[in-house]
Amino acid sequence: MLTIALTKGRILKETLPLLAHAGIEPLEDVHSSRKLIFPTTMAGVSLVVIRGTDVPTYVRYGAAQVGVVGKDVLLEHGAEGVYEPLDLGIAKCRLMTASALDAKPANGKLRVATKFVNVARNFYAERGVQVELIKLYGAMELAPLMNLADEIVDIVDTGNTLRANGMAPKETIADISSRLIVNKAAMRSHHAQVSGLIDRLKEALPSEVGCD
Ligand code: AMP
Repeated sequence: MLTIALTKGRILKETLPLLAHAGIEPLEDVHSSRKLIFPTTMAGVSLVVIRGTDVPTYVRYGAAQVGVVGKDVLLEHGAEGVYEPLDLGIAKCRLMTASALDAKPANGKLRVATKFVNVARNFYAERGVQVELIKLYGAMELAPLMNLADEIVDIVDTGNTLRANGMAPKETIADISSRLIVNKAAMRSHHAQVSGLIDRLKEALPSEVGCD
């Protein structure tokens, strides 16, 4: 049996066509079903659909042998116990700093609101900028508007969300896309299935991009 843990939401929408190309299609509609585990058209292969932040955990412990997750999640929560053999090139975006268009210089320590506290801590530390990190779980753009923070660290795609809230992107911290991750032990124990999947997914990608 091979279980693939998928990130629900926009990553899922972009992952399913790649999997279909690799001969793996869920037997029922993953978007409308309330199920979490889906058998597929490929014998012995099932899909689980979960939150992105949970995908590395399922794969690290070997509950799922393979996963699809955004690089932002791997950067923030670590990639311990997993290999990252393939950049799927989907759900591309950037992790960026951003501030209000009319932002005044910070009074003392820069206050930064984000859900990516580990990424942000490293980013500002490397630049020698002292910051106070404020952990939020969503709607980061609201923080500068409400004087909760001077800057935010967030995912930016088109920049429309920032613009709609009177903010502008500043610096790019990392280019993000979704990655295939594989449990380290499963890379050996399920070698034929996993390497077959990687090869078929590579064929499905517009241009082959490997990563480690
Ligand atoms: P945008 O307005 O196009 O810049 O999109 C910004 C918002 O969409 C961010 O606040 C994110 O929450 C979300 N978003 C955009 N792209 C992605 C992605 N690839 N993965 C996860 N969230 C994303």
